[in-house]
Amino acid sequence: MKRLYIPEYVYVKNNFQKNMAVLVSDTFISDIGPVQSMVDKHRDAVVEVWEDMILVPGTVNAHNHSFQSLLRGIAADRPFLEWRDNALYKFSPRLTTEDIYTGALFAFGEMLRCGVTTVSDFFYVHNNGTESDEAVIRAARDIGIRLCLARTMYDWNGAPQGYLESVAEAVEHTRQLAFRYADQDMVTIVPAPHSLHAASLEMIQAGYRLAKELNTAFHIHVAEEMFEVEEVRQKYGLRTIELLDKIGVVDDNMVIIHGVWLSDSEIETLGVKGGRLAYCPSSNMFLADGITNIPQMMRAGVGIGLGSDGACSNNRISVFEEMRMVALLQKANTLNAMSVTHQQAFAMGTIGGATVLDLPVGSIQTGHKADFVGISTADLSMRPISRSGEQLLPNIVYSMQPTAIRSVVVDGRVCVRDGKLLTVTEQAILQAVERVMDKFEE
Ligand SMILES: [Zn+2]
Repeated sequence: MKRLYIPEYVYVKNNFQKNMAVLVSDTFISDIGPVQSMVDKHRDAVVEVWEDMILVPGTVNAHNHSFQSLLRGIAADRPFLEWRDNALYKFSPRLTTEDIYTGALFAFGEMLRCGVTTVSDFFYVHNNGTESDEAVIRAARDIGIRLCLARTMYDWNGAPQGYLESVAEAVEHTRQLAFRYADQDMVTIVPAPHSLHAASLEMIQAGYRLAKELNTAFHIHVAEEMFEVEEVRQKYGLRTIELLDKIGVVDDNMVIIHGVWLSDSEIETLGVKGGRLAYCPSSNMFLADGITNIPQMMRAGVGIGLGSDGACSNNRISVFEEMRMVALLQKANTLNAMSVTHQQAFAMGTIGGATVLDLPVGSIQTGHKADFVGISTADLSMRPISRSGEQLLPNIVYSMQPTAIRSVVVDGRVCVRDGKLLTVTEQAILQAVERVMDKFEE
């Protein structure tokens, strides 16, 4: 199946170009070029004229916990540990496999509406097996989003029982899933030892080894709150990255989440060893965690993607939103308007996230997956636009509202058209969420 997309502008090679068409063959972008020559060359393709639309790469949500969408709005404005106990730990043990499916469908549906085409779901409500993990995978498939399942390995017994596994179980279950979905393009499984707080050193090392065996990255929360840094310092006399480096897991397979409380020399180590960062500015603000030193991370050469984190610690779930947040927060923190530019923020939310997740997405180029978004230039939040088009990218990052997001294509499949989800109806999602809420209130 070939489709020829003809929008008003295409974002290609870091520029908006007019009079360009993009050819999609099945699931890939197979050709890009001037409209007339593309029409002449690909007469067998179905033509999609995107009038008054800008075609940009789909955004990559490098860190999320999908089930947390069901807990949105609960225990808001509490300190982290209180929020954790009154929202997360209180409600997550009540979730059945079907509820987890519903939570994922809900989160992924809202993300698609916001232009997210790939999500990394850091998932830990395993309930003694792999059934819940498969419910998340099923939801991603049904709604049509590309999924990286960061399968969490968790053995700190202060948490609800359903999160916990022995090291051997965590390795075995993660490996089983990786093998089961090895031939599926839309799903990647990566090991994700939770954090230095919630995974033993043995568990973290097992996750690291498994990532090597599976030839993937591994994800881990690092230094999200000051208490974790203090805990590690008291127990080991080291800072978090120092300890992780000492046990031999800091290298280019490592993707850290947050990295709020890292010293300059830890950031240096991360950069030198090729570590990557999934940065969640809104969540860090929401939970009063602190501010990651992004300019320093960039100088150190750390690859950076953006994450929304769970929807109950944000509480929006859009990567375009996180682009705005990283730029504004870092400017305010450094008193430097140039500290993170709109170009850098846009790159973090697209190609940066793709690099963090090792996926051929995040830019409009031949050979990449056909994951892209159609933004309306007729939406008030996207105006004004002069003939030079210089406002296009600043408007996307700083002023655009989700109403401007009209079309979303993932793996060549049209998931959103005219601002409406096509794969699963919003009505069906609302009803399913309603059923979970009824249960919470029993
Ligand atoms: Zn997280």
